[in-house]
Amino acid sequence: MAITLDIARDNPNAQTVSAAARILPADEKPTLIGLSREELGEALGTIGVPPKQWRMRASQLWHWLYVRGVSDFAQMTNIAKDLRAKLDESFAIERPEIVSEQISVDGTRKWLFRFPPRGAGRPVEVETVYIPEEGRGTLCVSSQVGCTLTCTFCHTGTQKLVRNLTAEEILSQILMARERLGDFPQADTPQGAIVPSEGRLVSNIVMMGMGEPLYNFDNVKKALLIASDGEGLSLSKRRITLSTSGVVPEIFRTGDEIGCMLAISLHAVRDELRDVLVPINKKWNLEALLDACRQYPGLSNAKRITFEYVMLKGVNDSNKDALDLVRLLKGIPAKINLIPFNPWPGSEYECSDWERIEEFADIVNRAGYASPIRTPRGRDIFAACGQLKSASERMRKKDRDALTAQD
Ligand code: SAH
Ligand code: SF4
Repeated sequence: MAITLDIARDNPNAQTVSAAARILPADEKPTLIGLSREELGEALGTIGVPPKQWRMRASQLWHWLYVRGVSDFAQMTNIAKDLRAKLDESFAIERPEIVSEQISVDGTRKWLFRFPPRGAGRPVEVETVYIPEEGRGTLCVSSQVGCTLTCTFCHTGTQKLVRNLTAEEILSQILMARERLGDFPQADTPQGAIVPSEGRLVSNIVMMGMGEPLYNFDNVKKALLIASDGEGLSLSKRRITLSTSGVVPEIFRTGDEIGCMLAISLHAVRDELRDVLVPINKKWNLEALLDACRQYPGLSNAKRITFEYVMLKGVNDSNKDALDLVRLLKGIPAKINLIPFNPWPGSEYECSDWERIEEFADIVNRAGYASPIRTPRGRDIFAACGQLKSASERMRKKDRDALTAQD
């Protein structure tokens, strides 16, 4: 059982809601979620739809899947009944199973979703977090189950990589959150839910959940291009932020091919310390990372890079660190996001004292940078930055082979 459930049990304020499970059928039909329009057309071709109808039919499906948010072909009323039946026989559009939905006292929600194996061993579980604020609702989306990297302050880093999520699984987190919040047309928002008072309930996406998105570039790109498609989910690319620990060779492509906003998990201003906190630094050091940032397509004062900096007591929080930070980022249009360290069981760091964080922020502010201190959200349900981890484990090869042999 996931660690999150135990935490919620200890906390009388956290609410855990077990939602009805809608499990994908065992025969695992191929999914239509996450396919490009062209791929949707080709999929239709496999069930006998003539090529001259592909575009039109793909547009219809696109609308139902991403604007209306339906998860059942029967609801696609402008598609003929016999075609709907054929689609249902051949393809899946169901949502993942909700293992748990936890609601924090501050309105933050965390879901644990279970995705079917899709030919990749056994089912996997991932966490997705919704953070409502005045005027916006941010969804923190996972890109991998576990992580290959081992940043020493991050809980996800203690979970070995199980596998990359597919484009379908990345998108499904968005679709599912919108469904649960009632963010589709004609859908109801659950009573008492804390959501922005106006506008879209999920207005912003941050790829800051479990995993390193740039180690799953193709699937993340595919999912984000669908999420930002103007005739579908229609999330503005300026409201989609991808956070990376510093996979330098993929940074340019992120701007060029996805065009979303970029966040960098910086956390240290000297290579010796960053080598420890964010070990990928040993491969691509600060100089290489900042060079890549300077070349980020579209970078300007209107489109700044966010530098995330976790505040670790006595480790990276001195005034000298703040001054070096300002010096290091000179010339890069940047925002600095100070993140109070969120502890997790077994973590070896402490969060800097509040006065220290404020003094650090003052130095950064005086140098002309906006440096909001990120208010920890959903700590009572273990949903804050760096606290995510699911119980999924990588299967041993022997067990995987045994499963494949059964097929
Ligand atoms: N792998 C990507 C995205 C996921 S982490 C990355 O590292 O950027 C999202 C953010 O939370 C990162 O900036 C990460 O460094 C930060 N983080 C990780 N563990 C944390 C913790 N315990 N407390 C506060 N922030 C943490
Ligand atoms: Fe992975 Fe990001 Fe956590 Fe580092 S901070 S271990 S890259 S999820």
